[in-house]
Amino acid sequence: MQIRDQLYIDGRWLAPAGTQTLEVINPSTEMVIGRIPAGTAADAEAAVAAARAAATAWSETAPAVRAAYLAKIQAGLKARADEIARTITGEVGMPLKLSARIQTGSPIAIFGLYAKLAAEFPFEEQVGNSLVLRDAVGVVVAITPWNYPLHQIAAKVAPALAAGCTVVLKPSEVAPLNAFILAEVIEAAGLPPGVFNLVTGLGPTLGEALVRHPEVDMVSFTGSTGAGVRVSELAAAGVKRVALELGGKSAAVILDDADFAQAVKSTVNACFLNCGQTCTAHTRMLVPESRYAEAAKLAVEAAQGFTLGDPLGDTAKLGPLTSAAQRQRVRDYIARGIAEGAELLCGGPEAPAGLPTGYYVKPTVFGRVSPASTIAQQEIFGPVLAIISYRDEDDAVAIANGTPYGLAGAVWAGSDERAQKVARRLRTGQVDINGGSFNLLAPFGGFKQSGNGRELGRYGLEEFLEYKALQLRPAKAA
Ligand code: NAD
Repeated sequence: MQIRDQLYIDGRWLAPAGTQTLEVINPSTEMVIGRIPAGTAADAEAAVAAARAAATAWSETAPAVRAAYLAKIQAGLKARADEIARTITGEVGMPLKLSARIQTGSPIAIFGLYAKLAAEFPFEEQVGNSLVLRDAVGVVVAITPWNYPLHQIAAKVAPALAAGCTVVLKPSEVAPLNAFILAEVIEAAGLPPGVFNLVTGLGPTLGEALVRHPEVDMVSFTGSTGAGVRVSELAAAGVKRVALELGGKSAAVILDDADFAQAVKSTVNACFLNCGQTCTAHTRMLVPESRYAEAAKLAVEAAQGFTLGDPLGDTAKLGPLTSAAQRQRVRDYIARGIAEGAELLCGGPEAPAGLPTGYYVKPTVFGRVSPASTIAQQEIFGPVLAIISYRDEDDAVAIANGTPYGLAGAVWAGSDERAQKVARRLRTGQVDINGGSFNLLAPFGGFKQSGNGRELGRYGLEEFLEYKALQLRPAKAA
């Protein structure tokens, strides 16, 4: 049991203003494993004041100094990697091996990436008679979700600090324990007080108090579309910069000449990773009508390889969903898919056999899904794949683009050239070409209702910078 009863504000661990707490539940045991403060507007006030007081001095530090702090944070996370992986498996339910590789490896890599970028990034350039400076935006509020909790935190905190911004982090109340480890690592790295602050609590109370605060310059939000809209509305009153990373309904487009065995298997993997609780999950598999039967068979075979079980055990490829609410939501979507006439090829809404405890849902594949139906349009955030057939390439592109989202996707074809040609027509932030892998240097973010702005790589750093132009006089002739 981890009891966290203090918030990290202004370089110190302080008791919260109120007395309310929130429980953290382990989704495989359904036991309470932690308790955190339910922060209030008074805590938001204290954290923002600390970040504001530290902002000018931090923005004026040399980028190389900020780079050295980020490298120290990276080393501190590395030293606690095993503890971080176990903590996140406890809160999120992802099998431990995957937590070590993805949930822990990725944030460590991101802090390393921004240590390098802070040192190398051209913070000024000359354009005609202007010297263009890239100044820190100022005080940043970072609000993050639970599915890849420390990755999403790192994707905001590391570039914001690299840019010279100060940060108030409000992690998800569902998986907040990892954020306390990060705060301890940052404290040990010796960052000046107020540069990084951690407050915990609920979105509508603490989150909204932070977003409304007049001393906040920017809100970087990752989460659901509904909460993102609310954050944008509140931030608009103060003309704050807002970056949003929201949901997705990404399509894997498999063309008729693709290697179907590989394409289908990879699509199922990309759909079921983290039990489908992945914003970039390839949840729609688009296949030519002529090869539908073959694709459906391969998808069911692949799905049946996803053994459910204890995320701390050796055999499970899939753990539970992260919360009881999420399990209910996913089961409701599966029932809706059946009601709307899709063919249930495997899985289903009933509880899986042999797992009486834990928020488990059977890996589910639907065939003959209509592109306009609920399960083809809305983000389910569970292990549910929808197979949709298309007539020709134009039809495939129209279906892939036919949702309110545009975050990720894939194209599989007999040649990379053909795949790229189709990928260029997709209105989405990232497309994997014939299994191309995730790249931390590439811009990550969405078209349409998947969000605004980009994270990762130098694009993620630029989000936290303002332009400033100094108009220079011509040099005097000698
Ligand atoms: P959520 O929107 O409920 O919560 C996300 C964060 O926002 C939490 O910290 C929460 O406390 C806070 N929040 C909620 N309401 C708020 C409000 N009114 N004002 C301020 N803050 C508020 O989302 P979730 O359930 O934690 O995460 C799942 C969703 O996040 C999915 O829709 C998923 O697609 C999306 N997501 C997107 C990305 C991406 O990068 N695009 C990554 C991960 C998750």
